[in-house]
Amino acid sequence: MKKAYYIDYPQQHVEGQAHTYQCVYCKVVTTKINGSLQGHLPSCAYRLKYEQAGYEKDDCSNSAGYPSADDFD
Ligand SMILES: [Zn+2]
Repeated sequence: MKKAYYIDYPQQHVEGQAHTYQCVYCKVVTTKINGSLQGHLPSCAYRLKYEQAGYEKDDCSNSAGYPSADDFD
């Protein structure tokens, strides 16, 4: 399953900016991340967690599951 939005990462308040939050791991601000896994740095622990779990793998390995009938006359 692929998630549409990745917003369950731990966030922390950006010092000196009243309404700005950032990812605890990669420190990218939430407005930049914008719910996207790619918004985090490649080294971000949150991003890596999902990538290692295979969430972003977009391979539709859609092998046609029925045998062909070409062998019959
Ligand atoms: Zn992050």
